Amino acid sequence: MGSGNGSRNQNKNKNKKKKKKNKSAKPGSEQEAVEYVANWAKFHRPPAAEEEEEEEEGAYNACVTLPIIDLHTHSTFSDGMLTPTELVERSFRKGVKVLALTDHDTMAGVEEAIAAADKYGIRVIPGVEISAKVGQGDGGDSDGESVHILAYYGCCGPSDCKSLEESLRKIREGRFSRARTMVKKLQYLNKPVNWEHVMELVGDGGAPGRPHVARALLEAGHVQSLQHAYKKYLHDGGPAYASGDEIPAEEVVHLICHTGGVAALAHPWTLKNPRPLVRRLKAAGLHAMEAHKSSGKISEFTQMAEEFNLLKLGGSDYHGTGAPNEVDLGKVLLPAKVFCEFLKLAQPIWSAALKSMVHDYANSSISQQSASMIIEELSSHTAHFCSRKSSLSCGCVSTDKNSGIHGILKFSQWLRKEDRELLMAEASNLGLKYSSSIDLSGRATIVLFGTWQEVKVAHYS
Ligand SMILES: [Zn+2]
Ligand SMILES: [Zn+2]
Repeated sequence: MGSGNGSRNQNKNKNKKKKKKNKSAKPGSEQEAVEYVANWAKFHRPPAAEEEEEEEEGAYNACVTLPIIDLHTHSTFSDGMLTPTELVERSFRKGVKVLALTDHDTMAGVEEAIAAADKYGIRVIPGVEISAKVGQGDGGDSDGESVHILAYYGCCGPSDCKSLEESLRKIREGRFSRARTMVKKLQYLNKPVNWEHVMELVGDGGAPGRPHVARALLEAGHVQSLQHAYKKYLHDGGPAYASGDEIPAEEVVHLICHTGGVAALAHPWTLKNPRPLVRRLKAAGLHAMEAHKSSGKISEFTQMAEEFNLLKLGGSDYHGTGAPNEVDLGKVLLPAKVFCEFLKLAQPIWSAALKSMVHDYANSSISQQSASMIIEELSSHTAHFCSRKSSLSCGCVSTDKNSGIHGILKFSQWLRKEDRELLMAEASNLGLKYSSSIDLSGRATIVLFGTWQEVKVAHYS
């Protein structure tokens, strides 16, 4: 499954026969990949069932034959029309087994998606599609062009929620001022739309985007269709277009890498001049780019991905607008082998993120002088990723009158067996206490805890 790596360029010109032979000799057939993905995607079964494979073979086989994967979707938390719950329900009806929720500049919908996916046996990958701009340096008309970078995180989310959330907040604020500018421009063009109406379309917790303004234009009767709204007013450089306050794409890639995510360039076919950007993003740490579309692979981008040694991904980019040409959930078919390559790349990154969460936890308890600062630190970590009761990783604190302050870092119920083992080993190394519980569906939660004093002693001994 290492076809995306290594000596591609040297092998490029060798004949097809050789290639075919290599393929069949390599462990890593499509069927093997299908099984690997199915095995990864299913919920953790209770430890007893893990040994007795036959018991759930019916359900397991259903997974093996149909690993429909969608790595690019939107909900009402950005500019999608379905709530995360509705999106998951639709995914289920469309046979999707692995779903990445990648709202624009927010991960606020992930928690709801995971809770909904619980019922349907769908595996959710926490994701986000971050708005950026093509930085200076390429010259020509590409400077300042907007570009989207997808980030995919492990079951516990980003390792440094705080810096990710801080950057996303800035970008979201930029989206508000951008949408306001578009609304103002429409007013000058004598096609007024109501700001309150736009925000109504955005819904609670979301950030406005061009689709919201387009819909407001349609509902105000200024255009006949959403496409018309783009064509006439909102296209890049159009009379009502405004650019946002995005950060340069390289910085976004750094941010994703720094927070334990996999970075993928979204829809490169929308860019005026993708090649120099792809080169620079690869140097910044980019892992992948979208190269699959509902019409199949786009050879130009497949070649580009191979040239820069990037994984070739894809997803529907489903928004639920109901537009006639909209690609439905699960309709961009991603071969299991491709997703397998993705997992093989992602898993070490996600494991390292888990490890760094444990280390940060242990270190925060010894480096901070004041307990109140620690409480603040952990509370904000909680607030960013799991404002309510969450199955994702979160930090929280409880105070105990008798023994002083306890720190607790609770990890996702979605932990895989390997993640669980890794966490427990790291906790032991650092002298942290932990408890692990497995619920009826076989999913595990690990809680690290300890009084600061204990942790400090253990860390130094
Ligand atoms: Zn996009
Ligand atoms: Zn998108």
